[in-house]
Amino acid sequence: MASFKAVVIEKSDGGTKASLTDFDENNLMDGDVTVRVEYSTLNYKDGLAITGKAPVVRRFPMIAGIDFAGTVEASGHPAWKPGNKVVLNGWGCGETHLGAYGAKARVKGDWLVPLPASMSAREAMAIGTAGYTAMLAVMALERHGVKPDRGPVVVTGAAGGVGSVAIALLAKLGFSVSAVTGRPQESAYLRNLGAAEIVERNELTGPPKSLAKERWAGGIDAVGSTTLANLLSMTRYGGAVAACGLAGGMDLPATVAPFILRGVCLYGIDSVMCPIERRREAWKRLESDLDRQKLAAITTEIALADIFEAAPRILAGEIRGRIVVKIG
Ligand code: NDP
Repeated sequence: MASFKAVVIEKSDGGTKASLTDFDENNLMDGDVTVRVEYSTLNYKDGLAITGKAPVVRRFPMIAGIDFAGTVEASGHPAWKPGNKVVLNGWGCGETHLGAYGAKARVKGDWLVPLPASMSAREAMAIGTAGYTAMLAVMALERHGVKPDRGPVVVTGAAGGVGSVAIALLAKLGFSVSAVTGRPQESAYLRNLGAAEIVERNELTGPPKSLAKERWAGGIDAVGSTTLANLLSMTRYGGAVAACGLAGGMDLPATVAPFILRGVCLYGIDSVMCPIERRREAWKRLESDLDRQKLAAITTEIALADIFEAAPRILAGEIRGRIVVKIG
């Protein structure tokens, strides 16, 4: 009977427990495409799942891991045939459907996007769900009409995964980017990614005013809570903020003043159930608009067995940039 090594989460003593174990291939869930997983990544949500800090996993046992890149091994789906290179983000993988931290995954063909032709599986996972979410946020600002000539834009949680990719993308598109970080020691790293200004996190964590001095034409927020509330109050007339994260908290202690007095828009960014057409567009844009040298500079590679040490560190905000996980 074929089995493979996987990071499996099981129920234990009222909580959950994750371990590296052998998983029987016959126990993979239904799906019309089987993929040989080559790389995955460590996202904030993976940190929550592995540590059990939030109820991310809703089916047990669960193979953790919300995203992968790999090669199709078998397919009953008309769009895919063996040998095709594919990427998957979200759709409940690692939450309700067996996920990415194992050598094989069986999923719905409708969930897959093609690996961009010029990209390796490792590069795609260096981007991962964090980077693809950053791209979705940039696209939301663009649809709103935020352009470099409207003024500077801001990225919070700057030295993290979403933040690092967002800065690199926005800088390449010609924006003047302010990077908000609680790690001023990472200023050189952030400037190398293209940040024009470094803003200390505590400038945005105080009690939010309804309206503050207008500062940024747009923003990408990975932090939530008082940071997002302050960001809204500092957004220029007619500007927009794309909210995608909760690294600082789930609440939003804001007033409606920025919306009704400055016409500010707040866009919600969801990567998990995002429609397939927008995903394809995001991955095309990542192929053309993300500097690969910068991507390499933000990437650290680990093995499956290292996940357990890295998971609490991403929740503590200690990981810089992106972590790829070598699977194959
Ligand atoms: P990371 O841990 O890599 O980055 C988060 C960053 O936020 C940290 O590096 C740190 O940046 C900052 N931060 C951490 N804790 C706090 C705090 N208490 N107060 C203020 N800032 C803090 O995570 P990711 O970039 O992978 O993900 C960021 C967020 O986006 C997460 O909440 C994640 O769940 C969410 N997300 C949402 C998605 C969606 O579909 N909407 C998809 C992907 C991610 P610094 O040190 O520079 O201040």
